[in-house]
Amino acid sequence: MTSIEVPVLIVGGGGCGLSASVFLSDQGIDHLLVERHADTSRVPKAHYLNQRTMEIFRQHGIRDDVLAEAAPLDKFGKVRWATTFAGDGPLDARRIHEMDAFGGGELTERYGAAGPELPSKLPQMWLEPILRRHAEQRSPGRILFSHEVIDFSDEGDHVVAEVRNVETGEVITVKAQYLLGADGGRFVGSKVGIEMQGPPSNVNTTTVYFSADLSQWWEEGTLITHYLSPEDPDLSVNLIEMGPSWGKACEQWGLHMAPGPPGRWDNETVVDRIREVLKVPDLEVTVHKVTDWIVNAILADKYRVGRVLIAGDAAHKQPPAVGLGLNTGIQDAHNIAWKLAAVLNGSAPESLIDTYEAERRPVGRENVDWAVSAAQHHQVVIDAIGGGHNIPAGRRGQRLAAYFDPSPLGDTVRARALEIFDTHRGGCQSFEMEVGFAYEEGAVVSDGTERPARVPMRDEHTPTSRPGHRLPHAWITRDGERLSTLDLTGRTGFTLITGPEGTAWSEAAPRVAEKFSVQVNAVRIGDGAEYADVDGGWEAVRQITGAGALLIRPDQHVAWRSTGADEDAERALTEVFATILDR
Ligand SMILES: Cc1cc2nc3c(=O)[nH]c(=O)nc-3n(C[C@H](O)[C@H](O)[C@H](O)COP(=O)(O)OP(=O)(O)OC[C@H]3O[C@@H](n4cnc5c(N)ncnc54)[C@H](O)[C@@H]3O)c2cc1C
Repeated sequence: MTSIEVPVLIVGGGGCGLSASVFLSDQGIDHLLVERHADTSRVPKAHYLNQRTMEIFRQHGIRDDVLAEAAPLDKFGKVRWATTFAGDGPLDARRIHEMDAFGGGELTERYGAAGPELPSKLPQMWLEPILRRHAEQRSPGRILFSHEVIDFSDEGDHVVAEVRNVETGEVITVKAQYLLGADGGRFVGSKVGIEMQGPPSNVNTTTVYFSADLSQWWEEGTLITHYLSPEDPDLSVNLIEMGPSWGKACEQWGLHMAPGPPGRWDNETVVDRIREVLKVPDLEVTVHKVTDWIVNAILADKYRVGRVLIAGDAAHKQPPAVGLGLNTGIQDAHNIAWKLAAVLNGSAPESLIDTYEAERRPVGRENVDWAVSAAQHHQVVIDAIGGGHNIPAGRRGQRLAAYFDPSPLGDTVRARALEIFDTHRGGCQSFEMEVGFAYEEGAVVSDGTERPARVPMRDEHTPTSRPGHRLPHAWITRDGERLSTLDLTGRTGFTLITGPEGTAWSEAAPRVAEKFSVQVNAVRIGDGAEYADVDGGWEAVRQITGAGALLIRPDQHVAWRSTGADEDAERALTEVFATILDR
């Protein structure tokens, strides 16, 4: 039997596993990725890439390729509610409401102030080939599709896995220092006794992925449009552009609808249903896939057992309502990659890896809960305007007609509805959930300050350099080139940011870096420094003086800060690294 020895084995080549491969390669860590399928996802699945994910893609040189295929923000930056998709009845094809969402419309300025990237939209089916290409370019021969892990064991100081070539049946043995389970929760976690905790799910849904020319009826510009049937709750659906062209030119679609009994729809029987729910009786449709799936809200009780780690859907599954699923998985991978690198390079002990769970599990908890709460609240919104599943068939037309009634009472109904719709901003404008997540415990040195208050709807973000938070973004320049402060971090190593009077910090940095065998890039921003704070944006968010310093981790989170100078910068930095790296 062939045997391979490698520092990290990644199980699963979905969005999370492929991202982990790219991040590990950029950290210089050899690894093997095995994916059971011959190819990347054939179904669109996740399509919203949030602002933080796009920043991570920018850091790792993936962003341009994503943007080349992604929908531009003006093609997806709204959520809309309408009666039916088409039809010529008095209540058909009428817009109920639309609101800016996911960074679009009037939100763009606010999101744009928070980071160098805006959210993007590219279904997993198109994203994964880009990630795969980047992973393969950086680790030639190490990305094995059509290979599955059939068994593994943790031997204490290493993991041994049996990997089967799905096409030939050949089995190879892989010996790895660590195994990262990015398998969507299918196998790795349960094998090491990790439990997925959460309420039993009773929400099923059916997703139909199909091609059709809908240009005649489709009103473009949304990430999702909800159609609330005036006739029958089971005919209510939502429709999503899945590309590869965007707007009216879009060829492929995702339709979510009520499932009925298991297996009720297949590729043939569903065609009439699509025509019925869209109210286009003679629509030409090519169905690619019908999926019945369960909406879960579950979180792993542990993210690590011995030498086995889990990430992505293997660690958390949530309703797709706010598009946090894949994004959280990519961000898990970003967090663990530099830690694995530090441990495998010998600059940190094994215990650094424990900070992965300490940091990422609370974020997983928060994101699962947020997605559940947003999904539940959306039901409240559509119930309130008469379009919910609890409004029976006989009463729906009457309720929706009241919404459109031109009378003074109709004005009141619409005014009430408007206030209710506004509460949905907690679901589709909650960018604090996307860029504001922070680590209270882990590889950070607390400075004893309290976390800034977060607005309950999470639709405002307050940048802060408090340890654990993502480095605040500001535009700076060097030799006329405009950069984000986040661009200072490169793809590896730590970054020490000081001000014009912080020379003692930057001089101490290389000595401390040598002591700990880590890479530290020291930069100064401000008057007379190599980076200019042209419009004062950095001074407004840095929360340190020109003599202070921030230490930024490879994943762009602040590890430590000093608001001013220290009598002994080298000693202070030495203590900081000893704490962060647990040495
Ligand atoms: C309809 C829908 C819409 C969604 N919308 C969004 C959205 O807008 N934004 C968002 O962020 N999320 C969204 N999600 C969630 C998102 O799709 C998932 O969170 C995401 O796919 C998780 O990625 P992953 O890589 O962790 O797992 P997966 O995509 O499940 O990948 C796991 C991979 O592991 C492989 N594998 C499993 N076992 C083995 C083994 N033993 N050996 C080798 N390979 C193995 C599998 O074949 C699979 O390819 C949506 C989900 C659905 C269903």
